[in-house]
Amino acid sequence: MTEHSRDPWLLTPGPLTTSATVKQAMLHDWGSRDHDFIAINARMRRRLVDLAGGEGTHVCVPIQGSGTFAVEAMISTLLPADGKLLVLINGAYGKRIAKICDYAGHAYTVIETPEDTPIDPTAVAAALARDSAITHVAAVQCETTSGVLNPLPEIAAAVAAAGRHLLVDAMSAFGALPLDVRQVPFDALAASSNKCLEGVPGMGFVIIRQAALEAAKGNAPSLSLDLHDQWQSMEKNGQWRFTPPIHVIVAFDQALTEHEAEGGVAGRGARYRENCRILIDGMRAMGFETLLPDRLQAPIIVTFHMPVDPQFHFETFYDSLRGRGYVIYPGKLTVADSFRIGCIGRLGATEIRGALEAVRATLAEMGVKSGAPAKAA
Ligand SMILES: *Cc1c(COP(=O)(O)O)cnc(C)c1O
Repeated sequence: MTEHSRDPWLLTPGPLTTSATVKQAMLHDWGSRDHDFIAINARMRRRLVDLAGGEGTHVCVPIQGSGTFAVEAMISTLLPADGKLLVLINGAYGKRIAKICDYAGHAYTVIETPEDTPIDPTAVAAALARDSAITHVAAVQCETTSGVLNPLPEIAAAVAAAGRHLLVDAMSAFGALPLDVRQVPFDALAASSNKCLEGVPGMGFVIIRQAALEAAKGNAPSLSLDLHDQWQSMEKNGQWRFTPPIHVIVAFDQALTEHEAEGGVAGRGARYRENCRILIDGMRAMGFETLLPDRLQAPIIVTFHMPVDPQFHFETFYDSLRGRGYVIYPGKLTVADSFRIGCIGRLGATEIRGALEAVRATLAEMGVKSGAPAKAA
């Protein structure tokens, strides 16, 4: 079978494959002041707070747009004018947080490590001890650029010990990797509807310690991205300030029901770990090598080195896999020539094995004998 008759499987960091039932949830119209919709919105916010272990301490403020809108809203709202942010960078998403600060004119400093190296919590502690002007720290839980898992519990402990505030970009991990505020203290976490929670794209959300949000009134330089204002208004009447992405929200509510039915974070994480293991084992059997050693690899997306075989052309490889019904992702690394294959979304062992079969057939078609990269210099 070389021609697919259904939508392709998305082995990417998003948008991701969603279930038929999530898509079906969108086949209706709702008014934004409708009681049914207001109840769905309230339930969604409650479930997201519960997923982060924030009941009684944290609130969920959703925001229209892609994940970056939520990250930018989190920083604009929570960083006061006289605040200073320490940005922990080991990939494109950490860099994006620094860029957000550039636009808004926030004071910030960075700790930057290569894309295949996790952030070192002792370096964070040292930076906080050195610079008393730093009020907040921004960390990315899983850096989707490479798929590396940062040691968030240790980073959070260092930030808490220094009496500073942690803001987490948990976009690519929330719902699949544990992040519970009772164990890993944070002021805020940003994520979106369309990564490990398997909704459709179009909405981000920030889970914020209520006391921190109350203190953030007037911080945001942008009306659209002011989470304090969004929160106040939603608390008043249960409604969004501006047109809500209503179909996205209703589909997300269905996606959260399916997440619960799968066993929550533990169940979802187990499926992704299994996807990741099958993928890595299968690719290694064809000679491919992963950028990261297994102990640094999050079960979200895997970076593979480009094969050295002169018959290998990435564009042809990509197009042939697409023709067979599997969409992979180009690399985004500066440290190595690479491509990525995701393990998240509504797919399991059968689809990953199918993707491996498609890779095998494609290599044969191209005349590539092995996926092995050039030997490391
Ligand atoms: C996907 C992602 C984002 C948000 O990207 P958008 O394209 O704006 O949805 C932010 N941070 C991380 C770590 C991500 O994986």
